[in-house]
Amino acid sequence: VSEAIMQSHFAELKEALTRELGIASVTVDVGVAESHSGDWSEVAHEKPSLVLFPRTPAQVAAALQILASFGQPAVVQGGLTGLAGGATPRSGEVALSLVKLNQIEEFDRIGGSITAQAGVTLEQLQTHVESEGWFFPLDLGARGSCQIGGNAATNAGGNRVIRYGTMRDLILGIEVALADGRLLTMLNRVTKNTTGIDLKHLFIGAEGTLGVITRVVLKLAPKPVASNTALCALESFEAATRLIKEMLSAFEVMWSDFMTAAIKSGDFKAPFADIHPVYVLVETLGSSPESDSQALEQVLERALEDEIVSDVVVAQSLDDAHRLWEYREAIGELLSRLKPYAAFDVGIPMGSMDRFVASARESLTGIFPNQQHLFFGHIGDGNLHVLSGPYASSAELHRVEEVVYAAVGEVAGCISAEHGIGVVKKEFLHHSRSEDELDLMRSLKTLLDPKLILNRGRVIDTDAASRASSEK
Ligand SMILES: Cc1cc2nc3c(=O)[nH]c(=O)nc-3n(C[C@H](O)[C@H](O)[C@H](O)COP(=O)(O)OP(=O)(O)OC[C@H]3O[C@@H](n4cnc5c(N)ncnc54)[C@H](O)[C@@H]3O)c2cc1C
Repeated sequence: VSEAIMQSHFAELKEALTRELGIASVTVDVGVAESHSGDWSEVAHEKPSLVLFPRTPAQVAAALQILASFGQPAVVQGGLTGLAGGATPRSGEVALSLVKLNQIEEFDRIGGSITAQAGVTLEQLQTHVESEGWFFPLDLGARGSCQIGGNAATNAGGNRVIRYGTMRDLILGIEVALADGRLLTMLNRVTKNTTGIDLKHLFIGAEGTLGVITRVVLKLAPKPVASNTALCALESFEAATRLIKEMLSAFEVMWSDFMTAAIKSGDFKAPFADIHPVYVLVETLGSSPESDSQALEQVLERALEDEIVSDVVVAQSLDDAHRLWEYREAIGELLSRLKPYAAFDVGIPMGSMDRFVASARESLTGIFPNQQHLFFGHIGDGNLHVLSGPYASSAELHRVEEVVYAAVGEVAGCISAEHGIGVVKKEFLHHSRSEDELDLMRSLKTLLDPKLILNRGRVIDTDAASRASSEK
């Protein structure tokens, strides 16, 4: 009987959604469900029972209202490049994909802002504004697939945070569909606005737990006309902390284990004759091709004289710059090669970074001598990535996570600096947030989504039973 009731409940739900969204936007097709069964994390894939493709913000809101009236949980999906398992469906969930919300709506060429729907990819947006002399500075390896809505939901960082900040710093306005079907349109376009509590910050970085982001207004920067890139070889991380004071845009540190693995993964030519303990990829963005490149060369010459840098390759062309970035961007290939992996994106105070890397490497190689442990990151903002794998069992993966997150807690770092919590880091969140903070997060979730329709069980658990099982 219960099976029959469930089937009729599902048929009614599907019918109501089809009436609202149209037949082409509601699918049970197995192939489509398969391609919406998981993100880039190691969380086990699960086919959603239904995939929804709303085409307008109003349709997103209407779909949520129907889902809420049926008490049907849903997972919000952007470009599925997340590394925390937040967009991977859990059993019985409907997937709500933003892929069809892909319109760029308004381009303010005077004020320098753009309004885009959530499903526009980062690369699509970057290319669009650059063709008109503007620049959207957020940049990350997954640019071709990740969406602006997903970037906002995860408060993405990336390569240029030291100069331009994270997604939170680049969003002027936002539109969100709430779990009960209300559409909150807060498409502010002015930089300064002191009209009460700035609600957009509730949704940026909330990983889809409090609402579905449908549109964003983004702040643009004038397009830099000069870009200079260099790869430096250093004898210590301490030297990198001295070099960073001079750099303006990107500052990507790669320890030698990462560089060796990157060269091997892409069959690249080694950048220097010798192996060095630390490498730093630097990039400056500016307005004058000639004087900017002279300025970078002067800084690097001084760093060589002061023995901060041991060797350096300066890109002489865009192709050269692309080749230097290839070492850092080998991460996509390394993620595929080291599966099943543990991937960390921790935030470490700069003063503790060197000590943290040395002790984490020692602990990890001591416990898991047969795995690779690669250290790299956007270190200018204290964001260290560790990629460790492959692991044979989930028990091993869990052990690695415990070792790294406990060490992060000891240096008062944070367990996620950009990829988010999702389901992968949920049980470790207490290393970075106090019980009072977690309680307030639970209250907000209950206030905005009392039926737990949206991304249930991601980031935090609200009910006692799930909390007990995830804290085990
Ligand atoms: C090769 C590679 C490199 C990466 N480099 C970086 C990096 O440098 N910096 C960085 O920050 N991240 C990086 N990431 C992680 C990932 O690309 C980012 O987290 C990205 O912002 C996720 O966007 P997405 O559209 O793919 O979101 P998804 O993976 O689809 O979803 C991520 C989370 O956001 C939620 N969500 C998605 N869209 C919405 C929406 N419209 N409204 C509400 N919630 C939503 C989902 O439910 C999920 O919880 C990298 C990933 C890969 C694979």
